[in-house]
Amino acid sequence: LAKEEGGNAYRFFSGQIAGSISENMRIEFDLRRAIERGELHLHYQPIVDAVDERVVGAEALLRWDHPELGPIPPLQFIGIAESSGLIGTLGEWVLREACGQGARWLAQGLPLFGIGVNLSPTQLTHNNVVDYIGKVLEETGLPPEYLNLEITEEVFSKKTERVIHDLTLLREMGVRVWVDDFGTGYSSLAMLSKLPVVGFKIDRAFIREMGQDLAIVKTILSLAKDKEWIVVAEGIEDEAQKGALLELECRLQQGFHYSRPMPPEELARLLEGQRKKGGTA
Ligand code: C2E
Ligand code: MG
Ligand code: MG
Ligand code: MG
Repeated sequence: LAKEEGGNAYRFFSGQIAGSISENMRIEFDLRRAIERGELHLHYQPIVDAVDERVVGAEALLRWDHPELGPIPPLQFIGIAESSGLIGTLGEWVLREACGQGARWLAQGLPLFGIGVNLSPTQLTHNNVVDYIGKVLEETGLPPEYLNLEITEEVFSKKTERVIHDLTLLREMGVRVWVDDFGTGYSSLAMLSKLPVVGFKIDRAFIREMGQDLAIVKTILSLAKDKEWIVVAEGIEDEAQKGALLELECRLQQGFHYSRPMPPEELARLLEGQRKKGGTA
């Protein structure tokens, strides 16, 4: 019976519409205990150099297997975690888990350049975000250069000065910061060009449109070249997209064409295979 219920609930939660108030309340209630109950885990999606398809990094993506409702996609509960104040605990769990995993992979000698961790706006505008990230790095033993924080443009709409100040401190620590979902926000280019970030990830909406219209992606890439920003293209689903981006010299790519997000053991096997073939990733 539970399984049947779970199936229905999953169809509901994976639909387009946002949950009703009571469903959202249930999510909030259950999320509070999900961490202690071990219902949360991370999957990792490879980021590759499209030239030889070597994995050069991975993005940690949160997964929640609800005991009755089945898998709930992150976009269905991150927002609820934000508005209910649970994001602090949740974000801390993600950061610790991902940094710990990255440190273990490095200790095993696996060829890895970095671990991407998504940071929600509320997390970033929190008072002691810099101290706290430093503490997690120290405790897990992950060298700061291996942490790639992914933030969205929204964070620059509020407390802009403060956010830029904190990002500068993080950069001084050696942490790399990226603008995620680039192009979907409302930030002006003038503002974005002042940010202490190493680069950005082009949102997959633009990659999807590339077949009809190359102009936007071209413009983004030439801006990046000017600013010496590194670019990762997200949502690569086929060979044509891969090829078009390579022609524009955008080598760093992520998407189902290469690999879906996978459990850590699977990524470790992939990296191990790469290590045996020789060379660094
Ligand atoms: P994001 O950070 O932009 O992550 C990329 C999303 O695109 C992931 O969805 C990934 O599975 C999906 N994706 C990757 N390649 C392809 C592709 O080729 N085609 C398509 N259609 N999709 C692709 P996911 O895992 O459902 O995560 C959705 C969003 O939820 C993330 O977008 C991020 O904003 C948020 N999120 C996930 N994990 C966390 C987390 O630990 N903390 C925070 N704050 N947000 C998270
Ligand atoms: Mg991301
Ligand atoms: Mg993204
Ligand atoms: Mg996104």
